Amino acid sequence: MPTTSSQLHLSKIAPVVIQSEIRAMSVECDRIGGINLAQGICDTELPDVVAKGAVDAIHNGFNIYTRLDGIEPLREAIAAKLQSYNHLVFDPGSEILVTSGATGALYASLLALLDPGAEVIVFEPFYGYHVSTLLSLRMRPVIVPLAHPDWQLDLDALRSALTPSTRAIIVNTPSNPCGKVFGRNELEAIAELAIDRDLFVFTDEIYEYFLFDGAEHLSLGALPGMRDRTITISGLSKTFSITGWRVGYLAASSRWISAIGYFHDLTYICSPAPLQFGAALGLRQLAQSDFYTSLASSYEAKRDQLCAALTDAGLPPYLPQGAYYVLADATRVGGANASERARTLLRETGVAAVPGSAFFRPGHGDHLLRFCFGKRPADLDRACELLRGL
Ligand code: PMP
Repeated sequence: MPTTSSQLHLSKIAPVVIQSEIRAMSVECDRIGGINLAQGICDTELPDVVAKGAVDAIHNGFNIYTRLDGIEPLREAIAAKLQSYNHLVFDPGSEILVTSGATGALYASLLALLDPGAEVIVFEPFYGYHVSTLLSLRMRPVIVPLAHPDWQLDLDALRSALTPSTRAIIVNTPSNPCGKVFGRNELEAIAELAIDRDLFVFTDEIYEYFLFDGAEHLSLGALPGMRDRTITISGLSKTFSITGWRVGYLAASSRWISAIGYFHDLTYICSPAPLQFGAALGLRQLAQSDFYTSLASSYEAKRDQLCAALTDAGLPPYLPQGAYYVLADATRVGGANASERARTLLRETGVAAVPGSAFFRPGHGDHLLRFCFGKRPADLDRACELLRGL
């Protein structure tokens, strides 16, 4: 029987890292049979070719571990896509790593490239996993707020957050939760600082195809002088609606890739083998089609639909330029903080959202809720109807 003096306890970091808010809202939403706009899982259909590629691979016996850096057809398809879409030239044999999602890519890269105590710049509002991953590795997230109301980069705030212990900057574009798409000037300013201070940059470009109102996705790694200090991270979870498959990737200089690959192997071994084949086939075949442009326009319509409903409900949205989330001002919903507001909204409308505070430093974001519009049309229609009833 453990006593109070027992050595059996959670690690010191565990209580800091464990974040239950999004899952808690989902559990509560399921309990009352509500519509879940909280979790960032797109429950839209995956492309047939992607499913077929994976099913065929299973039947054809591709069910064992793959090479540490992933199967060759997938690395080649990724290299071709990086070149045509992101203007990044990386060798599929030595500079691309297939990972267990973008999540595994960031985790392995941080382990391989930074030491405990390293300070890493993260822009706010932030994706909670970025901050928690840093904390779990005993690194120090340094939060730099983006400016209100349109989330512009505040270069002075960024400059003054840099210290001699700063080692890296994380850039998520298009961003979760606010849908910000970093512009060329902003990325150039970040690049200039990264070069001047000799920093790594880790990008998270998982929403790179979810772009609205003509916004353009730019990869920081493609800017002059950035290739060898940028770890470009992306994946297929969102683009192909396969969040449960765990297929992502990163591109980096061959100087870093073996160490990152080693840490990825240690944690995940490899992304699921047959699913890599499905992703490879999808990347190859859909490149020739209008898949990516119709993806963006269908999500833009969903964004407009949800934002109109939020406006009608008296929850003014911050119009996102990309990704598939919207932050809305929920001041009119009862509650002392964002958690209470999310619960009130769920009780009164049956729609689950994430408390805005999950994306900010303590004491910020309490008037905000985040809604996900990566949903099936019928669910989104119903959610909009319920919200209008608020
Ligand atoms: N990055 C961001 C910004 C995300 O929003 C998400 C999903 N919530 C992920 C990464 C996870 O990507 P993956 O499924 O490829 O690990």
